[in-house]
Amino acid sequence: MIVSPAFAGKRYAVLGLARSGAAAVASLVASGAQVTAWDAREEPRAMVAQRHPTVELADPCAIDLAGFAAVVVSPGVPINRHPIAEAAQAAGVPLICDIELFAQARASLPAHRVVGITGTNGKSTTTALVHHLLKSAGLPVRMGGNIGIPVLEQAPLAAGAVYVLELSSYQIDLTFSLACDAAALLNITPDHLDRYDSFAAYAAAKGRLFGMQDAAAPAVFGLADAETAAIAGHEARRRAPGTVRVVDGAELVDRQPGWASLQGPHNLQNAAVAVALVEALGITPAQWGPALATFKGLPHRMEQVGEAHGVSFINDSKATNPASAAPALAAYPPVGGHRRVHWIVGGLPKGDRLDECAPFFGHVAAAYTIGDAGPRFAELLGPHMPVTRSEMMCEAIRAAIADAVPGDVVLLSPACASFDQFRDYEARGDAFRQIVAALTDPDQNAERPC
Ligand code: ADP
Repeated sequence: MIVSPAFAGKRYAVLGLARSGAAAVASLVASGAQVTAWDAREEPRAMVAQRHPTVELADPCAIDLAGFAAVVVSPGVPINRHPIAEAAQAAGVPLICDIELFAQARASLPAHRVVGITGTNGKSTTTALVHHLLKSAGLPVRMGGNIGIPVLEQAPLAAGAVYVLELSSYQIDLTFSLACDAAALLNITPDHLDRYDSFAAYAAAKGRLFGMQDAAAPAVFGLADAETAAIAGHEARRRAPGTVRVVDGAELVDRQPGWASLQGPHNLQNAAVAVALVEALGITPAQWGPALATFKGLPHRMEQVGEAHGVSFINDSKATNPASAAPALAAYPPVGGHRRVHWIVGGLPKGDRLDECAPFFGHVAAAYTIGDAGPRFAELLGPHMPVTRSEMMCEAIRAAIADAVPGDVVLLSPACASFDQFRDYEARGDAFRQIVAALTDPDQNAERPC
């Protein structure tokens, strides 16, 4: 666990006791802080009470916050409409998250560097890849933030280490002093608009990561959209020459011919950003080149989960918005005029359009709509391709298997959140994997899983 004398003797409120909140409580208590903790649910409150008898349980919205050093809120708390925002502001107390605590603890950690990675899509993949490239180069490295184990919960590393942090815009909103030694913005497309007043406000949140950096520190940007380009331009004007790099996947194809372990143009973009970040930390092509080829990718992101009768089954459940589903469609162009993709799409929609996917409708042999978005998506897609209104994942997979021919791809890339039918995107991807296994296993009764 990471602890810091910076917290000793101060008072903190922690709101939201899921993983990062629970880690914040533990770190603050171990650092000698006085902690008041709260969660709307009884279970995490009881857990904290049992583990940390000195913690006071009280709702920070209902107590006098005067004298508190900060309120640590879970990034899942919608601070644009939650009463804690007003309560903290009235008391003049900052709202922060565990990443800001980590930033404040840095001064007492052994010498290290921090890499921060943000963007609408591709954060986890790029973070995991940077971690892999640095680890392969022999550096002590930790991965945290919006991925894996909360950073405060992990043991601090000895001098020379690198902490690689995936940062969502919610986390950046609650972070004020994280000066990343290298930072990257992959892309910005509309998402999470329930949490921001506008798309511009969402983009500005991402941009703040770079405002916290030292003007001499390197920053890397993807070459995809106007919002990312605008932030890159702003940073280029503010920083020392040569510290801002805008990278393109195509560049990487030139530098690493034949490299193709990650599929799709978006993963080339992610890899180009990851390479630029590790190069900024002094890793050479001789070090990252071979390591790139051994990166396996993450589950639920264009993950091949099966193959039967020449048909591949791809789980891209993490594609929770149209912009992230688009590159999955792009990855499978027609062969000899034959459209190959059997696209399982739908869930809890983020909007009622699929504009980002439209350029690749010509890759889709047929769509199978599921979930709440099903009827609307069937209407949108009907003019462009055959559509089966499946509603349930199982029916969709069964229909796709019946239609697919050798060389085709059955692709779950929903372009929607999962919460209408599943606990989260992982449960949705796991369901896809299990149903595919059952329906393609010759020893199983294929009727059973539906
Ligand atoms: P995040 O952590 O930002 O959600 P992930 O790496 O988990 O990103 O990928 C989420 C989804 O976005 C996956 O469906 C993946 O195929 C797609 N994706 C990954 N990288 C990109 C990118 N650079 N641009 C667009 N979509 C992407």
